[in-house]
Amino acid sequence: MDVRKEYLEFFKNKGHEVVSSMPLVPDDPTLLFTNAGMVQFKDVFTGAIPTPKNKTATSCQLCVRAGGKHNDLENVGYTARHHTLFEMLGNFSFGDYFKKDAIAYAWEFITINLALPKEKLWVTIHNSDDEAFELWKEHISEDRIKRFGDKDNFWSMGDTGPCGPCSEIFYDQGEENFNSEEDYLGGEGDRFLEIWNLVFMQYERDASGKTTPLPKPSIDTGMGLERVVAIKEGKFNNFDSSLFTPIINNIQNLATKELSKDNIGSFRVIADHLRAVCFMISQGILFDKEGRGYVLRRILRRAVRHGYLLGFRKPFMAKLVDTLDSIVGSHYIDIREKKEYIKEQITLEEDRFFKTIESGMSLFEEELKNTKDNFSAEVAFKLYDTFGFPLDLTQDMLRDKNLSVDIQKFDELMTKQRNKAKAAWKGSGDSLNEGDFKNLLEKYGKNEFIGHSSTTCNSKI
Ligand code: ATP
Ligand code: MG
Ligand code: MG
Ligand code: MG
Repeated sequence: MDVRKEYLEFFKNKGHEVVSSMPLVPDDPTLLFTNAGMVQFKDVFTGAIPTPKNKTATSCQLCVRAGGKHNDLENVGYTARHHTLFEMLGNFSFGDYFKKDAIAYAWEFITINLALPKEKLWVTIHNSDDEAFELWKEHISEDRIKRFGDKDNFWSMGDTGPCGPCSEIFYDQGEENFNSEEDYLGGEGDRFLEIWNLVFMQYERDASGKTTPLPKPSIDTGMGLERVVAIKEGKFNNFDSSLFTPIINNIQNLATKELSKDNIGSFRVIADHLRAVCFMISQGILFDKEGRGYVLRRILRRAVRHGYLLGFRKPFMAKLVDTLDSIVGSHYIDIREKKEYIKEQITLEEDRFFKTIESGMSLFEEELKNTKDNFSAEVAFKLYDTFGFPLDLTQDMLRDKNLSVDIQKFDELMTKQRNKAKAAWKGSGDSLNEGDFKNLLEKYGKNEFIGHSSTTCNSKI
């Protein structure tokens, strides 16, 4: 089943306008990357721009959650369900239908189109949302509707603006397959897999924190494509689905180390990061020392370090791009058309890192021998400054050893070095307050698009 197509057609048949995925770099300096389907409708929801003629829409939005408020970089390779880049299916109502229809549509799609067995489904709602409880009761038995607090089931756009309770749909993948302590509904484990979040925007919050009902409540939903594809293919881990296995098989062909249960995480990280890096480059983001380009660099270097663990000693990622193209290229034309450019950029950056990774790894291993509690901030800084190891990469290397870096100390060293660099800088007088994230984004955040895309990402719907 082509889940993406099925979803968009389902909502199209219910009168929704099918809209393209917006660029990964939003025209919004406060947001690092587009991280949800609703981002392109933000101004409609707040009322900053008039409601479009068609008051309902549906999309399949490319999202990146590798920085800012939503950061899943640390989860990748450790959970079965998180990616740095993923596709979010969504349906939206701008003051048109509300809770009743949003719930009925979701239920119809999940139980009829996706044909997921009802006995495996669970629903969560906000503590206060009796209305949602009554509506869900029409579809699912009461004991499968669980109430949670603000942390899990209340959504807001920011400190002020539209907000409201949300309701999430979970798929139980079976006690027999999962046994971590986190495997309960609402826990961090993968057994109860969150597949769909339905947000009921029904309040407006003002600066004092007071909420008042919105005259025209709206709907914003998001469902992770990769999770649904994995379920449909009978897999318990997204990385075992057909969206990832061709890439993982290809890494296996190229690597000198055999895949085993000890190193499977490295294969998964590389497969995930390959996707993120290719899409980001296809949309004009370039490797950089700061801002979004630095996130791109961190993702690529993380993948390279995992490649290093698998025995790679020279660039290998470009050899995986054709495989990614064979999976997504017929839908995401940018990947297909810019393939050679993407390979070139990746290889250049890999080359840069492979030059220093060997020395960095031995410095790291040496220091590890002397480490009891905290890993030396000085060495972490040297790894960053001299060998190009982003801090989060070093932290990732320490994770399975239960060690950490003294961040405060690391930051001090960073500030000291920046001040030194500033004192030496006799340039244009174009002051760059490097600590100020917003300034950085203004300076580096606007990425130019290569090729022909203008306001939308070049994808076929
Ligand atoms: P989780 O609790 O699993 O981290 P979330 O609550 O952070 O998910 P939402 O912000 O509610 O996710 O996003 C809506 C949907 O997008 C989720 O229900 C899930 O299907 C999907 N999703 C969210 N984050 C990721 C990710 N990092 N990788 C893949 N899919 C994701
Ligand atoms: Mg999350
Ligand atoms: Mg969640
Ligand atoms: Mg959620």
